[in-house]
Amino acid sequence: MRTRLPEERPKEPPTGYKIAHLVLDADGGRAGFLGVSLGAAAPYRVLDEARCVYGRRHRAPHRRCDCGFHCVHERGTAEGLLVQAEHRRAVLLEVSVLGPYIRFERGFRYARQRVRTATVGPCPCGAGASVLADAGWGRDGRRALEAACGGCAGGRARWTLATFARLAGGGLRIVAAPGVDALGDAPGMPELAAEAALLQARLDWFQGQLGRLGEAMGGDEPGVR
Ligand SMILES: [Zn+2]
Ligand SMILES: [Zn+2]
Repeated sequence: MRTRLPEERPKEPPTGYKIAHLVLDADGGRAGFLGVSLGAAAPYRVLDEARCVYGRRHRAPHRRCDCGFHCVHERGTAEGLLVQAEHRRAVLLEVSVLGPYIRFERGFRYARQRVRTATVGPCPCGAGASVLADAGWGRDGRRALEAACGGCAGGRARWTLATFARLAGGGLRIVAAPGVDALGDAPGMPELAAEAALLQARLDWFQGQLGRLGEAMGGDEPGVR
């Protein structure tokens, strides 16, 4: 006898999390995403429909295949994937799971998807991302982008986060995770500049005092320069 799992009929589409690379069509016209591992075979847009990655003539997700979009239930699980060396330049996506889906313990496999939010990690130098720069690789006529600060982007082609969101369309929200500076005690540039100005003022005062002391003692100014 064939047993069927109970069908779920949620009022709201379920939310899931996954990681992907941000990509831009070579002509710069439209933005989208490229999955990691199995999903790397099929780039997708903000709102998209899964096709069987093996080219089989069935609707994704099919029970006896592993095609369809994939996501996990917990944000933390997806964040955990981002620490792997080969996924460091990927971003975290929050998605709405649309259409038929198969629920697993850790996530969903499903037919349609809307990417709601993309969270871009810091530049490899630790500063918060201010641009998306050409990552130096691509696939299927799409150029991969990666988070960069203005300094580290160098002379590479670059796009603002807002431009990427506009080219992706569909109301995508794109946010930059705080840089390492903002998380720890390490001072940022403005703090260091203020500290340097204060030290310079103290040094000027100290040199002035030494100079007066030297004159009072009738000698040469001590060599503090
Ligand atoms: Zn399939
Ligand atoms: Zn940087």
